[in-house]
Amino acid sequence: MANPLYDALIKPHLENEAVFLVTDQGDEISFASFAQMSGRIASVLIEAGLKPGDRLVSYTPKTPETLALYVGVIQAGGVYLPLNTSYTASELDYFITDASPSVIVCSHGDLEGLTDLSKKVGAKVLTIDPDGSGTVRDMSGTARVAGVVDRSESDLAGLLYTSGTTGRSKGAMLSQMNLLSNAEVLAEHWAITERDHLIHALPIFHTHGLFVAINSCLLAGASMRFMASFDVDRIIAALPQATLMMGVPTFYTRLLGQEAFDRALVSNMRLFISGSAPLLAETHEAFERRTGHRILERYGMTETNMNTSNPYEGARKAGTVGRPLPGVEVIVAGPDGVALEQGEIGMVEVRGPNVFQGYLNMPEKTAEELRDSGFFITGDLGQFDAQGYLSIVGREKDLIITGGFNVYPKEIEDVLNDIDGVLESAVFGVPDADFGEKIVASVVLDGDVSEAVMRAAVEGDLARFKHPRVYQVMEALPRNTMGKVQKNVLKQAFVASASPA
Ligand code: AMP
Repeated sequence: MANPLYDALIKPHLENEAVFLVTDQGDEISFASFAQMSGRIASVLIEAGLKPGDRLVSYTPKTPETLALYVGVIQAGGVYLPLNTSYTASELDYFITDASPSVIVCSHGDLEGLTDLSKKVGAKVLTIDPDGSGTVRDMSGTARVAGVVDRSESDLAGLLYTSGTTGRSKGAMLSQMNLLSNAEVLAEHWAITERDHLIHALPIFHTHGLFVAINSCLLAGASMRFMASFDVDRIIAALPQATLMMGVPTFYTRLLGQEAFDRALVSNMRLFISGSAPLLAETHEAFERRTGHRILERYGMTETNMNTSNPYEGARKAGTVGRPLPGVEVIVAGPDGVALEQGEIGMVEVRGPNVFQGYLNMPEKTAEELRDSGFFITGDLGQFDAQGYLSIVGREKDLIITGGFNVYPKEIEDVLNDIDGVLESAVFGVPDADFGEKIVASVVLDGDVSEAVMRAAVEGDLARFKHPRVYQVMEALPRNTMGKVQKNVLKQAFVASASPA
């Protein structure tokens, strides 16, 4: 009888009195009391009607109770489905109708808005508020610790929706083994131990903050400074006690903007890890100059967990996402799925125990993206160097086809980003009557750079068909909560402003 994920993440800690979470209020929660809390919550969920294999929607603020809810769902044999709390009513309608959960947990303020929807799918509603109070806490306070519900490696444990910038979001079904295998690989690869103290400032509705950070730390017995949100002052205050940080690139650029962020402040730190969006080589270099640390960049996604990582020991190459993780196969392939020669640009495809089980209620989409051979077609274009390090060149959908030529935005962005006074850039294609698409460059400046300087740099480095036709200077690039530049937003805004009213 077993529940592989629970057995690996929680069972070893049932008597572990060491501190697991330190909250913003300075409260310390031990592994053992966290396991108690999640065990009681599991009882409440079973009582509420959550059966093995049922889905639970968590539309809740980031609190220790929310984290215990995740573990409680695993213990009760359910499938955890966290949702970004900034989703609107119509988005919620789509997710909840599609996923048809038997329990929904939200904050008190969202109860009213969810009444009709919960009735429609027949879900019981519980609450967790930003301070952790709510019916989950009230009911679990007096509940007994539940037994552990049996699950097999292939049973689902998580359902995470993709961000869906090109169409409807898809629910990626993740099995116990998908999550557990990746946690094991990451804890080992990044040498995480019970001596580590992680700064956790990521949201826990996304694969990065939830599975990458939480599962690997629980597995290794590492503690964390659990922050309700990213707050640069809190991070500065926590760094002297910390050994490990996982962040999106914007965390690191924001830290570099602080004078107090220096070598002395991070003298206790062992490792800074970045992912979810490309880390600019400049940021990597500036970070090393300031702190002496080389940020370790890794690459993954909702459907596959983590696929590649720069090494812990050995060369961390700026601008690359490292090599395939142990047990994970990564190829750069042509449209037929056959691996290309080293150095060629192609589609990144991934196979391994980390790759998801398919999209919920979307067998055609699953068949399109998940080959019979087990390889998942990621949608990212990549290139291997001679040492086997992968670089992500961009999303396939962001590839620009102008006058019949393929243009990879990253190639142009790299040239622009190298200009003194250009902070960052995003290059994208917009419809054009003559060329099919024309190239637009949005740039954010931190110095005095004229368009002529940018044009000259691009013209000096790149063939004519790759030259942007339009340059637009912006205050900032639009980003989502995971720090990803939203090129779809840029494109729409450009097209809207260019078309006659
Ligand atoms: P998500 O499913 O929200 O985690 O988004 C996954 C996508 O983020 C990937 O398919 C990549 O396009 C992008 N991504 C993740 N990590 C990196 C990275 N280190 N460098 C570049 N892109 C990344």
